[in-house]
Amino acid sequence: MSTRLGWFELESGQLPTEPVGSLPRPARLQHAVLAQLAGSIDEADLQQEYDAAVKDTVDRFVATGSPIITDGEQRRNSFASYPVAPGTATASEVFAVYADGHHRLVPKLTTSQRFSYASYAGSDVEYVRKLTDLPVKEAVVSPAMLSLMYPDSGLDGYSKAEFEEDVIAGSAADIISCFAAGASRVHVDFTEGRLALNPNSQVAWAGTAALHGFIELLNRVLDAIPEQYRPFVGVHTCPGNDLDSSHSRDVDYAKLLPELFQIEAGYFLVQAAGEEDPDRVANLVGQQLKQLGGARQPRILLGVTNPTSPRLETAEEIADQLVKASRFIPAELLGSTDDCGFSPYLVDSKPRHGSPDFARDVAFAKIAARVQGTAIASETLLG
Ligand SMILES: [Zn+2]
Repeated sequence: MSTRLGWFELESGQLPTEPVGSLPRPARLQHAVLAQLAGSIDEADLQQEYDAAVKDTVDRFVATGSPIITDGEQRRNSFASYPVAPGTATASEVFAVYADGHHRLVPKLTTSQRFSYASYAGSDVEYVRKLTDLPVKEAVVSPAMLSLMYPDSGLDGYSKAEFEEDVIAGSAADIISCFAAGASRVHVDFTEGRLALNPNSQVAWAGTAALHGFIELLNRVLDAIPEQYRPFVGVHTCPGNDLDSSHSRDVDYAKLLPELFQIEAGYFLVQAAGEEDPDRVANLVGQQLKQLGGARQPRILLGVTNPTSPRLETAEEIADQLVKASRFIPAELLGSTDDCGFSPYLVDSKPRHGSPDFARDVAFAKIAARVQGTAIASETLLG
C-alpha cells in the first residue's frame, strides 16, 4: 500500500481535518494492563486486548467518515513514554500539575549509557495500516519533552549536549519511521510549550528560557527531516488534557503564539474550542501568519472539539467557528482538528464523562461532528 502524503482532503473540495491522536482506552484494556502488572494475566492475553482495542478504534473511526485516522494510541502508556527503555530512567520529577490538583511525572535518566529510542512510533503505523485503506496519521513525542529527562545533577561521561544530540537523532528517526510505515502526516506533541509559560505551573523546569530551548530542539529535528516530508510534519499546542483537566489554560495565547510560530513546522494543530473565545485564537494566529508573510505559510488546523468536556459540539457550531476563523486565516491554509488527544495517558478514568467507555463513545461522536462541521464549512469557503 502506498503512502498518500499530503492534504488530499482538498482534492475533493474539503478543508483538511484530522484527529490529534489519542482516544480513551476501553475500561477492559485499562483493567488488563493493571492485571498484567499484578501478574494475574499473562503478556499474550494483554496483547489480545491491545489488538482488540486497536481494531475497535479503526472500525469506529471509519464509521465517523474521517478522511484520516489513528490507532487512538491504544498501545501507549502515555504520549511521552514509548521511546524510553525500561530500566534506563525513573519517574522522579513533576512534569505537570493539573487544575484539579493531580500531577504527572517525567522520567529522569539513571544511566550514562547513550540514549536511544526503545521503540519507534512507526511500528504502530505499520500495524494500523494493515487494518485500513484510509490514510493514517501519527503523533510523536517532542524532543522538548524528552529533553526534560536529563538530570539537573548531570551524568558522568554523558553531557547534556550529547544527550540532546541523541534525542534529536531519535526524534527525527521516529518521525521518518512513521512516514516509512505509511503515515500521511505526522505531528509532534508540544503540550510543554504552553506549560513552560505558566507562572503558576508549580514545576521546576518551566520558564521562558526552557521554551526557547524547546523551540531550538524542535527546529533542529525539523532540519533533519527529508524535505519531501516537511510540509506534512505538524506541531500541536494545547493546555494539556488528563483526567479531563488541563495544566496551563491560564497562559494567554498572545504570549505563546509569537514563540510557537518560530517553529518551522509544516502545519500547526492549535487548541481553540475550549478557549473562552475561540475566535480570538483565530485572530491571533492570523496575525502571526501575516508577520511570517512570504517567509513561510504553515497550514493551521484549529481545534473545534473539546476532549475535556462531555458536551457534544454540533456540526453547525463547528462550521460556524471555521467560517468565522476564515476572516483571519485564509481558507486555503485552514483546517480543523480536536483541541487535544482525547486521552494522552492510558490509565485515565475520564471523571467528567463518568467512565472511559462513555468518554470513548463521546470522543467518536465529537469526531463525527468535526467531520460533518468541516464539510459544511468547506461548502461555504471552498464551494
Ligand atoms: Zn494536546
